[in-house]
Amino acid sequence: MINLLNYNQAQLADYFASIGEKPFRAKQLMRWMHRFGVHDFEQMTDIAKVLREKLAIESEITLPTVQLEQVSNDGTRKWLIGTDTANSIETVFIPEDDRGTLCISSQVGCALACTFCSTGAQGFNRNLSVAEIIGQLAIANQSLRQEPGYELLPAGERIISNVVMMGMGEPLANYDNVVTAMQIMLDDNAYGLSRRRVTLSTSGLVPAMDRLKEDCPVALAVSLHAPNDALRDVIVPINKKYPLKELMAACNRYLEKAPRDFVTFEYVMLDGVNDTAEHAHQLLEVVRNVSCKFNLIPFNPFPNSGYQTSKASHIRVFRDILMQAGYVVTVRKTRGEDIDAACGQLAGKVLDKTKRTANRIPIEAI
Ligand code: SAH
Ligand code: SF4
Repeated sequence: MINLLNYNQAQLADYFASIGEKPFRAKQLMRWMHRFGVHDFEQMTDIAKVLREKLAIESEITLPTVQLEQVSNDGTRKWLIGTDTANSIETVFIPEDDRGTLCISSQVGCALACTFCSTGAQGFNRNLSVAEIIGQLAIANQSLRQEPGYELLPAGERIISNVVMMGMGEPLANYDNVVTAMQIMLDDNAYGLSRRRVTLSTSGLVPAMDRLKEDCPVALAVSLHAPNDALRDVIVPINKKYPLKELMAACNRYLEKAPRDFVTFEYVMLDGVNDTAEHAHQLLEVVRNVSCKFNLIPFNPFPNSGYQTSKASHIRVFRDILMQAGYVVTVRKTRGEDIDAACGQLAGKVLDKTKRTANRIPIEAI
């Protein structure tokens, strides 16, 4: 049985062609599934009855299941979403005055093993399907619409105005499914988000960044975290394969096609590891030729990480050095901490963590 949530509009048109139907059916189905959230073929009134019956026999529209929904004191929401019997992933909604941002996962676990990340500490289990990635947006939309206050919004109004591919996993390591899911997010017959409001965060898979700029250029965030190769090799091990100089060159190539004229560099602040004034000056050298902004992320602790959050005074000094050099710098506010929904705290749920850590794929294979 095929799950139609796995297809973008072009793929749906191919599917309809393969069963002898007109391609415009794809547009109708996209609207029902994604714009109106209707998953029962019987309710799709502008599709002929015979076709509805045929679709019901050979296909399904099935969302992943929600195992748990939690709401933080600050309004942040987290969904634990089941992908199969053993694993689950997490999706986080962050309401702010002028926007609502959904943080979406792309993999169960992550193979890249950054030393300060709890998803990385789990090891890699598997890629999410397109239905599981776009399903997170559908589930969050559906659930938020039922909330008091939100249900009064006109049907076309977006509760979720922005999407960030910053949840569990490295999105560019699940390239095809992530790109297809983002195409659905951007599709006017589906969610109609603008490219500027969809941000993909990567630890720096250079060849995939080059592909992305051709296939689906969205806003780009790059997880830098260290101002020299020696340190980045340790805390973001993929750096051994794609070192800083290559990464900076890839950022500049990406900017030729990007919907925004800057890259956002994310930099997790680890006490005594990467947060000194000296590090800040080195960082300015590294990014010298790249149009960029900085997002400093105070480290969010998790059990046995071995790291501490930088002292607030150190973060301020670091920020001021970057700002005095003329850069826009934000310090990320920690949201949803009481429900473990903050950056790097997303771990989902796995049956056997020991085994999965052994499951790590060597970087050479990525
Ligand atoms: N794999 C992608 C996207 C997911 S991680 C990437 O690495 O960019 C999203 C962001 O959260 C990254 O910048 C990541 O480095 C950061 N992060 C990971 N663990 C963290 C932690 N414990 N505290 C704060 N930020 C963390
Ligand atoms: Fe993977 Fe990103 Fe975590 Fe690194 S920071 S282990 S790339 S999810």
